[in-house]
Amino acid sequence: RGTHKYSGIVEDCCCDYETVDQLNEEVLYPSLQELVKTPFFRYFKVKLWCDCPFWPDDGMCRLRDCSVCECPDSEFPELFKKPRRLSLDDLICQEGKPQAAVDRTLDRKAFRGWTEIDNPWTSDDETDNDELTYVNLQLNPERYTGYTGPSARRIWDAVYSENCPKYPSEESCQEEKILYKLISGLHSSISIHIAADYLLDEATNMWGQNLTLMYDRVLKYPDRVRNLYFTFLFVLRAVTKAGEYLEQAEYDTGNPNEDLKTQSLMRQLPYNPKLQAACPVPFDEAKLWKGQSGPELKQKIQQQFRNISAIMDCVGCEKCRLWGKLQVLGLGTALKILFTVDGQENGVQTLQLQRNEVIALMNLLNRLSESVKFVHEMGPTAESITEGR
Ligand code: FAD
Repeated sequence: RGTHKYSGIVEDCCCDYETVDQLNEEVLYPSLQELVKTPFFRYFKVKLWCDCPFWPDDGMCRLRDCSVCECPDSEFPELFKKPRRLSLDDLICQEGKPQAAVDRTLDRKAFRGWTEIDNPWTSDDETDNDELTYVNLQLNPERYTGYTGPSARRIWDAVYSENCPKYPSEESCQEEKILYKLISGLHSSISIHIAADYLLDEATNMWGQNLTLMYDRVLKYPDRVRNLYFTFLFVLRAVTKAGEYLEQAEYDTGNPNEDLKTQSLMRQLPYNPKLQAACPVPFDEAKLWKGQSGPELKQKIQQQFRNISAIMDCVGCEKCRLWGKLQVLGLGTALKILFTVDGQENGVQTLQLQRNEVIALMNLLNRLSESVKFVHEMGPTAESITEGR
């Protein structure tokens, strides 16, 4: 264990790497770990079967509730309409394997009361209750599932090349770069979770850390690490900005003791004195959407993000789809908090969030916090064991 090589201010943010690592380890990580175990935060309502609007069924969705997709071809880019033919050997999705399966647990009690409000940043529709299932996130850790090959690659390619420029050029404006960094940061976090909980030996079902994989997919590319820290601070800023709303929200699930704990954690987290002292504004959103083209640009980026959200329905492995949808909804919620609400002092008072958005937001923050901790603690070891390979 050691300190990694990143130092200075996290690009486009307001705090430095050391402060982020310290705050994460002392304050954020322990609180978030507790929070995501509470009944309110451990159940996520999600439409899990594949109604991928972009590609015809590629044989990945073999589960009972993965129906063949009808693909309307009006609104989608050319790339999506002409899928490359995949051979059966390419389909390395391991849907049938236990590590990819989703454990569903019904706890309808955990869902009461909250309003159903549209989120302009995402394509999820929560009102269609018949099609939604409740998933216990604690029973479904994000980890290696064996989902790989052209199906997975196609998703990432679509997310990057269709929706945000892969290598933002000098001319691409700051706002577009931010969308790219958010996606790249999330991608890093997913890769880190795969590496942190990897199936090392299929025969003996041995799980453990795969530090070489973490190096090859993330650490070798400093930008990917920087984007992870950026995304963490961006989402943290959304949580602190919505602090008042989150503090007053109802966390009633019918478990008085547990709900009290949830309430108290949600009261403390955004206002934690150490956080307030060391990094009061983790990201400054007030700088964005300025200038003449501001409103148009915002709409354009909103549409791009909605596309990314819709692409998550095409993820061919159910558990990956679960975490993909949750985390993209979490990012969409962060964007909604930071940009839909106007920049006025009292703007947050007009904020309305769905229960699922709050669950996604806090679970995303927790995932990012886990990734930052893993990079901080295991990064130097991963780098040293890969040297001289
Ligand atoms: P990929 O991770 O597929 O990356 C594709 C390409 O994107 C890379 O070659 C590189 O050019 C670029 N790239 C990679 N990382 C970054 C970054 N951080 N920033 C910018 N560009 C980057 N697999 C699991 O085992 N468990 C899961 O829970 C899981 N969840 C997934 C969720 C989603 C939404 C998706 C799309 C995939 C998921 N996968 C999951 C699959 C996993 O992400 C990889 O696609 C797979 O492991 C194959 O990895 P790869 O090495 O081919 O590169």
